[in-house]
Amino acid sequence: MKVLIVGGVAGGASAAARLRRLDEKAEIIIFERGEFVSFSNCALPYYLGGVVSDWEDLLMMTPAGLKKRFNLDVRVRQEVVDILRGEKQVVVKDLTSGAEYTESYDKLILSPGAAPLRPASVAGTDGANVFTVRDVNDVRRIKTYLEEHSVDRVAVCGGGFIGLEVAENLIRSGFGVDLIGRNRQVMPRFDEDMAQILHKELLDNGVRLRLGCEVREIVPDGLHAVSRETGRDIFLPAGAVILALGVKPETSLAVRSGLAIGPTGGIAVNHNCQTSDPDIYAVGDAAETFDRLARRPGLLTQAGPAQRQARAAADHICGLNSSSRGFIGATCLRVFGLNAACVGLSEAAAKKAGIPCDIAFVLPTDRVSIMPDAEPMAFKLVFEIPTGRILGAQAIGRGDAVRRADTVGTLLSMDGTIEDLKELELCYSPVYGTAKDVVNIAALVAENLLNGRVRQVRVNEVRALAESGACIIDVRENGEYARGHIRGAVNIPLSEFRERIDEVPRDRPVYLHCRTSQRSYYACRQLQNRGWTNVYNISGSFLGLCLYEYCRDVTEGREPVVTAYNFD
Ligand SMILES: Cc1cc2nc3c(=O)[nH]c(=O)nc-3n(C[C@H](O)[C@H](O)[C@H](O)COP(=O)(O)OP(=O)(O)OC[C@H]3O[C@@H](n4cnc5c(N)ncnc54)[C@H](O)[C@@H]3O)c2cc1C
Repeated sequence: MKVLIVGGVAGGASAAARLRRLDEKAEIIIFERGEFVSFSNCALPYYLGGVVSDWEDLLMMTPAGLKKRFNLDVRVRQEVVDILRGEKQVVVKDLTSGAEYTESYDKLILSPGAAPLRPASVAGTDGANVFTVRDVNDVRRIKTYLEEHSVDRVAVCGGGFIGLEVAENLIRSGFGVDLIGRNRQVMPRFDEDMAQILHKELLDNGVRLRLGCEVREIVPDGLHAVSRETGRDIFLPAGAVILALGVKPETSLAVRSGLAIGPTGGIAVNHNCQTSDPDIYAVGDAAETFDRLARRPGLLTQAGPAQRQARAAADHICGLNSSSRGFIGATCLRVFGLNAACVGLSEAAAKKAGIPCDIAFVLPTDRVSIMPDAEPMAFKLVFEIPTGRILGAQAIGRGDAVRRADTVGTLLSMDGTIEDLKELELCYSPVYGTAKDVVNIAALVAENLLNGRVRQVRVNEVRALAESGACIIDVRENGEYARGHIRGAVNIPLSEFRERIDEVPRDRPVYLHCRTSQRSYYACRQLQNRGWTNVYNISGSFLGLCLYEYCRDVTEGREPVVTAYNFD
C-alpha cells in the first residue's frame, strides 16, 4: 500500500507514525511545503519570550529522524499543488528547483492546517514590519526584525489565544504591547464576564488593551484603527505589527480537486475522516469536526483533536474502524499569572445554539483558605435546563484551572449532569484543593438554581440595579464593607443577620451579596425560610463585581459602581 500525506506537522506526522505502527510494509511519503516537519506550533510564542531559548528546540523531529525511527520518506519544501483523482496521483512542486512531478497513491491524507488571516479590508498587511505566527521561520523572522530595528513597541492584532500568548511573551522580553481586538473581549470561547478577569491581568501586566477596535491600515511606524463604538480613528505607534486575527482552513487543494466542503468552510469528512472521495482523508485544522454539544459541524484548531483524527484516518486505512464521538472543544492558556481553561460551550455559544441553559458562577479558594498559596478560582458552569446536562465550564485562577476544566470535560464527554458532578469524588488534601472541590461547589449551586432553592442575578446586572436604587444588602462584616462597597448598598453583616432580619424589606426585590456569594446564600436561605419571596443572590458577589467592572472603568474612565475595588 502506498500512502501520501500532505502536511508534516501535527496531523500529518501523527498519521504517518500511526500508519507505520500498524503496517511495516506500507510506503509512506510526507510532503511538507515548509522547511521543517513535526515542530511544536504551540510553543512558537514562547520562543519570542525566551522561554524556549533556541529555535532548534522547537523541532520535535527531523526528516532524517523520521526516516530512521519510522522509515518514512519525508520531503520538505515540496508543495502538493494538485490532486488528479481520476489517476490517483498528486502533482508536487519542488519549491527549491521549481520542478513539478507526480506521485501515485492508494490512499491520500490531507493535513494542510489553517492559514492566518490577512483581511483584505486592512491595508498594508504586506509591509516588512507585519508578521503572522504559524511556523518556526515566522518567529525567527519576528525576533530578528525586532532586534535589528530596535523596536520598542509592538501592536498585536487579535485577542485569541495566539494573540494573547504573543503579547505576554513580548512583554516578558521587555517590549511595550498594544493588543487590538475587534470584539469587546479577548478569548471568544470564554463568556464576556469571565474574559473581564483576563482583561484585568493583561492591564496589570502592562498590556495596553484596545478592544472593540477594527484595524484599518498598517503603516511603517504603526497602525490606524477605528473604534467600532464611536467611529473614532486611533493611531497606535508600533515598530512591528503581529497579525493574530484568526485562521482559515487550508482548503484550496481540496476545492481544486472537487472534494466536498462543509458548511463551516472546512473539508467535509465522515467519522473515519474520509472526505467525499473515500480514498482521500482529511484531518486537523483543515477538516470539519462534529461539535457533539451543539450537535452540528464545527471547526477546531487544536493539536489534540488533530492527532485523534490522524489516528482515526490511519486506523481506517489499515482496516480498523474508529467511532468518533465528536469534539467538545477544550482550550487552555496562561495569561501572565493566571491560568485559564474552558471546555464545551460557553453560555453565549449555548444560547446561540438554541439550547436553554443557566449558569452557576462561583469564586471559592482553590485550596483550603488558610494554606499560603490559596487563591480564588473563578469557575462558571453552563448547564441545560431542565435536564441539568452539563454543557461547558470555564475556570480562571492562579491555581490549577486546567484540572477543574478537564474534570468537567471528562464528564461532558460522557454526557454527565450536574448531579454527576455533585457526586464526583475527587482527590483532596489542603495542599491541592478543598474537601468540596470548586467543581463540586459549582454543581451544588447549579442544583439549587435548577430546583429553585435560590434565585440569582449576575455581576453584569449590578450596575443597573445600583443606579436604579434597588435594595442591595451587603452581608459582609463591617470592616470589609468599610474597605469598599457597592454604592447605595446597605450593610447587614451575616453575624448580625438574625437579629436585624426585620430591616430587610418584604415589599420589593432584595439583592444580597457578600465577598463571593457563599455567605449571601446563607442569608438568602434565612430570608426564604422566614417568608421573604423576592430574594436574589448576586452570584460572584463583591469580588466578582470588582473583577467584572475594573477593566472597563479603567479603560473607559467610567464612574465605578463601587466606592473602592477590593481584590483580596
Ligand atoms: C502559535 C500557535 C500556538 C498554538 N497553540 C496551541 C495550543 O496551545 N494548544 C493546542 O491544542 N493547539 C495550539 N495550536 C494549534 C495547533 O498547532 C493546530 O491545531 C495543529 O497544529 C493542527 O495540525 P494540522 O496538521 O492540521 O496543521 P499544521 O500543524 O499547521 O500542519 C500543516 C502543515 O501542512 C503544510 N502544508 C499546507 N499545505 C500544503 C501543501 N499543499 N503541500 C505541502 N504541505 C502543505 C503546512 O506548511 C503546515 O506545515 C497553536 C497553533 C499556533 C500557530
